[in-house]
Amino acid sequence: MPEQRTKSALPSVQAEGHEVTPRLEIRNIRRFFEGRAVVDDVSLTVLPGQVTCLLGPSGCGKSTTLRMIAGVEMQDEGEIYVDGKLICDTIFRVPPERREIGLMFQDFALFPHLSVGDNVAFGLKGGKDQKRARARELLDRVSLAQYIDDYPHQLSGGEQQRVALARALAPSPKIMLMDEPFSGLDNRLRDGIRDETLSLLKEEDTAVLLVTHEPEEAMRMADEIALMRDGRIVQQGAPYNVYTRPVDKAAVAFFSDVN
Ligand code: ADP
Ligand code: MG
Repeated sequence: MPEQRTKSALPSVQAEGHEVTPRLEIRNIRRFFEGRAVVDDVSLTVLPGQVTCLLGPSGCGKSTTLRMIAGVEMQDEGEIYVDGKLICDTIFRVPPERREIGLMFQDFALFPHLSVGDNVAFGLKGGKDQKRARARELLDRVSLAQYIDDYPHQLSGGEQQRVALARALAPSPKIMLMDEPFSGLDNRLRDGIRDETLSLLKEEDTAVLLVTHEPEEAMRMADEIALMRDGRIVQQGAPYNVYTRPVDKAAVAFFSDVN
């Protein structure tokens, strides 16, 4: 085994008095575009069953960070570990489809030509009946099983978002990456869907890395907030601590729209 791989033996961290291996750990990730580090020495952990929120203004490098974890983009420096195992460094790379990572993006639309059930079953392995049973189970969890044979356009925006959540959870991913998943929804629906999403993710014990530019969303959903600015994490901690002890004036200004 080459020297590089031995880095995968990670120390576990203390959480609530127990030793816990992070579900996801990224270490010293950098990504350059045209000579500029848009993600600059970012390190993060997500514990099993927890929501870590990558919070920061538009353009600070949040989506680029998620794309590297998903494996659709390569970092220029740094390593990514899942359950303590190296999945990606600058030479070694587990392909995206073998990372057991679920994705939910704002514009990650459902397939219009597939039924709701087939959307949820898409990408599952196994026989037709088995896939349909799993789709039904997940649709049940988001209270939409009655729409299994309908098509996405017959559902409201909020319902479509819940189907997208069911689809992302169907293969039981170890980690869910969510990039501004609620920003396309109107305010009236958003709080309900956030809460419902959160309770489903907790029930499934999924580790979540949620990206948002909205402090209020981070405060509502996160167990841990990593505040990002110009490609760097400038502060990290429990939501209450990050909010009540902002690292600098810019952080105060950024949080000022939480009420
Ligand atoms: P965020 O998700 O926080 O809004 P992004 O990760 O999308 O930020 O982008 C971070 C920075 O990287 C931005 O300045 C963006 O213009 C730049 N960027 C993103 N992708 C590319 C690319 N493929 N080529 C060049 N620049 C890019
Ligand atoms: Mg983005």
